[in-house]
Amino acid sequence: CGIIGASLSNRVCRELVIGEIVFNGLLRLEYRGYDSAGVAVIGDQLLVRKGKGKLRELDAKLGFKGLHGCVGIGHTRWATHGVPDDVNAHPHVDCKGVFAVVHNGVLENFVELKRMLQNKGHVFVSDTDTEVIPHLVEEYYRETGDVFESFKQAVKALKGTYAILLITPLEPFKIFFAKKDSPLIIGLGVGFNLLASDIPAVLPHTRKVVALRDNWAGFITPSEAYVEDLATGKPVELAEYVRIVEW
Ligand code: GLU
Repeated sequence: CGIIGASLSNRVCRELVIGEIVFNGLLRLEYRGYDSAGVAVIGDQLLVRKGKGKLRELDAKLGFKGLHGCVGIGHTRWATHGVPDDVNAHPHVDCKGVFAVVHNGVLENFVELKRMLQNKGHVFVSDTDTEVIPHLVEEYYRETGDVFESFKQAVKALKGTYAILLITPLEPFKIFFAKKDSPLIIGLGVGFNLLASDIPAVLPHTRKVVALRDNWAGFITPSEAYVEDLATGKPVELAEYVRIVEW
C-alpha cells in the first residue's frame, strides 16, 4: 500500500501532467503491495477515479495519466476493512464530494465514529474505516469554516495508524497531511512539493526530503511546506529535518 501527492505551481502545471506524476509515483510504490488503486485531482473541479485491480490496467480503463490539474493524490490499497472492490478503493469523499482522502493504516475507532456521524445524517457508501475521515472533516468544517482546523480536529479524533492526504477545491493548491505509525515523507522541489510513503516515489523529481514524524500534521503548497506537532500545537522548524538523499 502506498500514498503519493503532488502540488504544482501554475508554471510547472502547464509543463507537466499531474495524472502522470501521481501515476508514476504509484508505480514506484507498487513493491509495497496492493489490491486496488485510485487518484483524485483538482482541475476545474474535484475528480476521483478508482477501482480494484492492477495499476496499468486501471490506468487503461480510467485514464489516470490523462488527468489535468495542479494538485493530485494517489493511493494503492491493501484492504483491511471492506473487501477489495471499486467502492472500497480510495480516495474516499464526504457527502458533498468536497473533501477527498487517501489513507494507509487502520483506524481502530471507526465503528464509533461512523455511528456518531450517521446519527448526524452522514451517509456512507463503503465498508472501509477510512471513509469516516472525509465525513469528520465535513462535520468540523461546518462548525469552523476552516479546512486546516477541521482536518486537525478530525485527525485528533482518530485512534490507530495512519498516513493521510486530503485535497479540496476549497483550498485548491494545498495537500493536507497527517501521520502516525505509517510512513510519510515530503519531497521538496522548486515550483512543486510532493508527499509520499517512501523516497523512491519522489526521486525522479527531487532528492530533498523530510521524513515526517508521528503526530505531525500540516500542508504543502507548490512553494511551502507547513508542519505542526499536534502534541504541542507548535509549528515544526522544518529546515532542521531536511536531508539530501544520495543514490
Ligand atoms: N484501512 C484502510 C482500508 O482498508 C487502508 C488500507 C491501506 O493501508 O491501504 O481501506
